[in-house]
Amino acid sequence: MRTLGLIGGMSWESTAEYYRRLNELTRERLGGLHSAQLVLYSVDFAAIEQLQAEGRWTEAGEILAGAARSLEAAGAELLLICTNTMHRVADQVAAAASVPLLHLADATAGAVRSAGLRRIGLLGTAFTMEQDFYRGRLEANGLDVVVPDAAGRALVHRVIYEELCLGIVREESRAAYRRVIEELVAAGAEGVILGCTEIELLIGPQDSPVPVFPTARLHAEAAIDAALADED
Ligand code: GLU
Repeated sequence: MRTLGLIGGMSWESTAEYYRRLNELTRERLGGLHSAQLVLYSVDFAAIEQLQAEGRWTEAGEILAGAARSLEAAGAELLLICTNTMHRVADQVAAAASVPLLHLADATAGAVRSAGLRRIGLLGTAFTMEQDFYRGRLEANGLDVVVPDAAGRALVHRVIYEELCLGIVREESRAAYRRVIEELVAAGAEGVILGCTEIELLIGPQDSPVPVFPTARLHAEAAIDAALADED
């Protein structure tokens, strides 16, 4: 198995799910006591969140690039940035290491296309829903992306930072997300990307009339596929 290098902690609530899922998938694939061979560099999210809010992306990217170099030095052979939003600096991180980076938007787009869908709703932070680094990458993969209106985007963003990244799961927020999903479906979405790695802590298939695409799970699956490619 190739050693995975996880840049995590954004937030640790979802990184814990990555860790669990990577290990479960390895056990499913290899059996017995097999578990995922990985190195985790978990950052202090408060520092990253402040840089995001101030638009200081290059400085945030330097922190993640440093993490990438540390992971490579520790033996990582394939890197994962365990958050959709911080793919804003994916190129900067990839340039810092000589081992490949498995891009979350590519893994997600692959799953959407395999499901035969093309027009897709996107939920995530305001950065992910509004800026080109993520939407553009999905579109380059052949998808037609729909996002909530301004009020819906503000709600989805607020719940991520004020609740989910703090481990708070509220029934009223689940109901509010369900309403936003219904609006996306009314706008023609054939599926919905849970494009923030904490949203799958709140929303599951039962909360949506169309298929949902949980990005932390999909990223973990793509990582195990790649890490075990030589085992098959
Ligand atoms: N984990 C979230 C994401 O996937 C948001 C936290 C962050 O800003 O990195 O976008």
